Amino acid sequence: MTKYKYNPELLRYDRVKSSIKNTIVKIFTYLTASVATIILAYLIFSPFFDTPRERILSRELNQMTSNFELVDQKMNQLEAVLWDLQQRDDNLYRKVFESEPIPQTVRQAGIGGIDRYGALEGFSTSDLMKEVNQRIDEIFRQIQIQERSYNELLKLTQEQGENLLNRPAIQPIENKGLEHTASGFGEKIHPIFGTKIFHKGIDFTAPIGTPIFATANGTVLEKGLYPGFGNRIMIDHGNGCQTLYAHLADFAVRDGQQVKRGQVIGTVGNTGVSTGPHLHYEVHKNGKPVNPINYFLNDLNPNEYALMLDLANVGKTFD
Ligand SMILES: [Zn+2]
Repeated sequence: MTKYKYNPELLRYDRVKSSIKNTIVKIFTYLTASVATIILAYLIFSPFFDTPRERILSRELNQMTSNFELVDQKMNQLEAVLWDLQQRDDNLYRKVFESEPIPQTVRQAGIGGIDRYGALEGFSTSDLMKEVNQRIDEIFRQIQIQERSYNELLKLTQEQGENLLNRPAIQPIENKGLEHTASGFGEKIHPIFGTKIFHKGIDFTAPIGTPIFATANGTVLEKGLYPGFGNRIMIDHGNGCQTLYAHLADFAVRDGQQVKRGQVIGTVGNTGVSTGPHLHYEVHKNGKPVNPINYFLNDLNPNEYALMLDLANVGKTFD
């Protein structure tokens, strides 16, 4: 901008020539003021706004948090699957071979070493990282125990192989929903005499004429009328194992006949000492009645096994 100055002697306006020095000073002053204003504004407002770097960090933190939630969910699923495998192992597979379940003390023994997670100390996320690492280590340990157990079972399978078909492993009547389970093995009140008796088998209520299956391969030892039991079948499965089916309406096998697991051997009836149509089923091992609930391995998953235990405990006997 051009500047003028009044000249009283010549009575006119003269053009004012600005020196280079003046110009530099002015520019410098202007720049200093601007920079000062920017710094001041930054100092005042910076607490309220994220810098781009802060924004990136906070995005990363959010991402990490949701990733961790995913990891947490997956670990929960893994732990649940593992628990189910352990239950099957203890309650089903090991029972096939009459082998002892793995003691809880072995399954639950902790992982030693206080300084195991020392390298994770000193971070804001230390606790979280330690927890995740501990859980993963625990899962690995449980998997190793489970793997050893399966190897052991595999060896037993190879050793026993063929014998498995001769071991009772299904329910003697169709009982998918377990609604036919009436009473289990153990001390009960006799339905007719009202006295305490030891119920040597499991009762399944079902309409007269319901098919009854052989629960394993074997030979019909005897079929016929027997005091108390009414029409009864005994099957010999070898290896000191026999099954008994009582109160039948009809027979579908003859003495000495070879039967296969699942084959119909007769039908449900109400013969002998009985308060209603039902099948009384026993499993004998070396001449002694044992709890048949441990011989339904092909039929029951762990939940059904637990339900059957409950049903068998509360139900009333029919003979
Ligand atoms: Zn019974």
